[in-house]
Amino acid sequence: MPAAGTRDGTAAGAAQAEACGGLAVLGGSFNPPHIGHLRLAIEVRELLGKRARGVDLVPCAVPPHKRAASLLPFELRAAMLEAALADLPDLNCNRLEGRRPGPSYTWDTLCAYRREQPATELYFVLGSPNLPLLPTWRNGLALPELCHLLVVPREGQDAAFFAATARRLWPAARERAPLLPGCPSLELPGGGLAIFAPLPWLDVSASRVRRLWLAGRRPDFLVPPVVLRMLRAARPLVLEHWQEKD
Ligand code: ATP
Repeated sequence: MPAAGTRDGTAAGAAQAEACGGLAVLGGSFNPPHIGHLRLAIEVRELLGKRARGVDLVPCAVPPHKRAASLLPFELRAAMLEAALADLPDLNCNRLEGRRPGPSYTWDTLCAYRREQPATELYFVLGSPNLPLLPTWRNGLALPELCHLLVVPREGQDAAFFAATARRLWPAARERAPLLPGCPSLELPGGGLAIFAPLPWLDVSASRVRRLWLAGRRPDFLVPPVVLRMLRAARPLVLEHWQEKD
């Protein structure tokens, strides 16, 4: 199973990336990028240690599930994410979903990673509320053919919730020794692991940032200063999109 991922898509880039082990993939709307996303990426990077060469943050072009009314243009979201990541080695923005037409299915994205670098082990980061929703995703239950699932708890969903949900989704899942210290793991049909990663979750969301912005309040410190500067520079465009009702 798991393997893939390069930013430039060249053969040299792929060979270099493959020489460096695994890669975590963190998808999202990033509407806008906030400190919760950045802290999560850093925590994942540190958790994986030598098992991975970095974390790719992948902005979604056309969300298959979320209503897209209030979504800022892909270009602005990707540019803000790149600016936010500029001083964070090993954390990269990958714009591949912006180059594909139609809904940005995670399955297609991970297949693209696998095609480019078949030997790279992939760790797809998933918030725990999304775990029970996987059957509604395109080929959601087949994702372990492509990657490990790194499940990060939210809303009090603990290791017991993780194990019960994973066993319900994949009755053939088998318990195995944790791949990462302190992170219970199940081996899933397809070969990938479901890994419970009890990483901290900051009380910030993009919706909260948007609400503050629309109320004329200050989202300082919830988003990196460079993101705030870019939002202010694009104020009319930002207002136009965020005022749209989802
Ligand atoms: P929205 O509020 O618009 O629904 P969001 O803040 O949840 O957006 P997304 O872009 O949808 O952000 O999330 C991208 C990824 O970051 C997802 O895996 C999500 O679970 C994770 N994430 C979002 N907020 C946090 C947070 N505060 N701490 C850690 N991870 C987060």
